[in-house]
Amino acid sequence: NAKRSVTPNSRARSFDADEEPGRVRVTVRLRPKNAEDLSNADFLDCVEFQPELKRLKLRKNNWSSESYQFDEVFTETASQKRVYEVVAKPVVESVLRGHNGTVMAYGQTGTGKTYTVGRLGKDDASERGIVVRALEDIICDMSPASDSVEVSYLQLYMESIQDLLAPEKTNIPINEDPKTGEVSLPGATVVKIQDLDDFQHLLQVGESNRHAANTRMNTESSRSHAILMVYIRRSVHEKVNDEISSREKGGKSDLFDGNRIPIVRKSKLLIVDLAGSERIDKSGSEGPLLEEAKFINLSLSSLGKCINALAENSPHIPTRDSKLTRLLRDSFGGSARTSLIITIGPSARHYTETASTIMFGQRQLQLETSTHQKVL
Ligand code: ADP
Repeated sequence: NAKRSVTPNSRARSFDADEEPGRVRVTVRLRPKNAEDLSNADFLDCVEFQPELKRLKLRKNNWSSESYQFDEVFTETASQKRVYEVVAKPVVESVLRGHNGTVMAYGQTGTGKTYTVGRLGKDDASERGIVVRALEDIICDMSPASDSVEVSYLQLYMESIQDLLAPEKTNIPINEDPKTGEVSLPGATVVKIQDLDDFQHLLQVGESNRHAANTRMNTESSRSHAILMVYIRRSVHEKVNDEISSREKGGKSDLFDGNRIPIVRKSKLLIVDLAGSERIDKSGSEGPLLEEAKFINLSLSSLGKCINALAENSPHIPTRDSKLTRLLRDSFGGSARTSLIITIGPSARHYTETASTIMFGQRQLQLETSTHQKVL
């Protein structure tokens, strides 16, 4: 694993502007102790960080001899700003340059996925989560005269896509353009965003619709995935090379060499607050709970398979198995950038869930290293 950070090749894998697309950046964030943790006299820390190495150790009864490396580890004192800058900003910048991108949060319920991703921070801007900061950066970069930003906000529950901006719309189909592979959601509400206030208001509407829908269905928000889709359209003048200008202008490349032609550049950012990764005790559950658990397991395990396939540079990313991965199909792999933040709690009481969350993130990093070593 150490090779990742010392060889020139592996350094090129750091997640910055010129990092190869297709790779998934995986980071970990620890939630601060809450009142329950603090009131527990037998409290044992579950994680020990080695921040300078971007590594952490786990403790069940004793500390693991092994430490686990990530692209970054965030201790409980990490600010929302820092988390955004490391986890999401590079993806947002790439989306602004015309590529698709995805940011996802994965972890046990109560470990801070929604805090990290969806926190509105209306009264205190330092509290803002990834979604609001991303939209702020995107809106700032837009030219109101020629560019546009639009959003849809959805919930994926038991393999059914529901529109959080128009709750009467359920079972929204996923359409894939056979030629371009572009994924779209016919019928989903798409709202044009003018400014950040507009957007924060829309998010609030979406959240209250989500709450109402889940009360109606007698379920918790943690049992569904919340998906924000941000569509960006920019008018740019691009310098084209001989071959493209020749194609665009009917073969007269000598006339159009080095020309700048006006094009509309479309890209899409997906921000996903995933359903809680905790295993539901199948023996104890029955009926709807068991069904919920099956669907969550299906989508999270198929997401894991896709991430592994990406890490192995596999030509085939198995996105067909679940609606979640079908929805992500054109937003990870290829030229798209993907960032996964894993959230964990501090208590050794939750060792089993924490360890399985950590392993989910580790799998692709280890695969990447072994691929890399093969190349070496
Ligand atoms: P999840 O979405 O994973 O179920 P939440 O985001 O709802 O978890 O977080 C659970 C609780 O912990 C919330 O009260 C949230 O405000 C708090 N919390 C989570 N992460 C942090 C953090 N980094 N700093 C302060 N409070 C946090």
